[in-house]
Amino acid sequence: MDISEEVEVFEWRDVPSGDFAVLGDPVGHSLSPRMHEAAYRVLDLDLTYRAVRVPYEDFGEAMDRLRSLGYQGVNCTVPLKEVAFEWCPSFLGLAGELGSVNTINLVTQQGTNTDLPGFLKVCEDFGVGSGARVLILGAGGTARSLVVGCSRAGMDVWLWNRSVDRRDRLVGEMDGRVSGVMDSLEVNGFDLVVNATSASLSGVDLGVNWEGGSRALAFELAYGNKLSPFLVSARDAGLRVIDGFPMLVEQGALAFEYWLGKAAPREAMLRAVGL
Ligand code: NDP
Repeated sequence: MDISEEVEVFEWRDVPSGDFAVLGDPVGHSLSPRMHEAAYRVLDLDLTYRAVRVPYEDFGEAMDRLRSLGYQGVNCTVPLKEVAFEWCPSFLGLAGELGSVNTINLVTQQGTNTDLPGFLKVCEDFGVGSGARVLILGAGGTARSLVVGCSRAGMDVWLWNRSVDRRDRLVGEMDGRVSGVMDSLEVNGFDLVVNATSASLSGVDLGVNWEGGSRALAFELAYGNKLSPFLVSARDAGLRVIDGFPMLVEQGALAFEYWLGKAAPREAMLRAVGL
């Protein structure tokens, strides 16, 4: 299966009636339709999951239309997670604190965030949890969620970002959840190093010095057909490495369970994205 193949994308004004959808702009690269449809097939559920392009400024109108067409739930991806948070009158879990919603129940209009529990579940599967010393690279929306989540999970959180101003602004907003900042990319003494920058999306190598970091897990949030420069360099230095696919599947499985109240068939969803 070629996971780089784009899915059929509907413009929100032209979308036919259905059950679930992922909204984004662009959205053709999303693997969510593939994952959710595989889950419906294996459980014999007569449901649809579509990819719908929704420009940021049309979000409210698009949500009204999808609700009037009988959609039960949506996932939101770039650049809609913050506007989705603003749209929801109520939240489940940490979404309210994070200011970022990736999953909405359109019937109750409740929003939740399954990215963060998806990330923490994958860490747990690799034996990384409370007490771990984690270095988060990045200071964007995802890094912000990780700081909150890792600190709540009892990890000792450190931060590095290319732009020092943005890094320091995030630290200031995090009310003491960040233990310290790194000025250079040294990983000695860390148990987990997470690349929450978008550098790998453009093939940029951050130039991490992996010396002394062999006990750490290198976690790349981005995913693609080949290992990112970050993961190639970590693997060559002898670290355990993990890309963004397992987290993607776990956030999808948690969204499925939130909407449908039944266990998600994770094996089928993993196979659907080529794992
Ligand atoms: P944002 O746009 O909010 O933040 C981007 C961050 O990347 C900033 O810290 C920016 O640093 C940094 N950055 C960008 N280019 C470079 C570069 N060339 N060198 C160094 N740093 C750079 O992005 P998000 O937080 O939304 O997403 C971050 C990553 O997480 C993406 O790769 C995304 O695909 C992935 N992701 C994966 C998920 C999954 O399910 N697997 C879920 C959610 C996100 P600066 O401040 O200096 O500009």
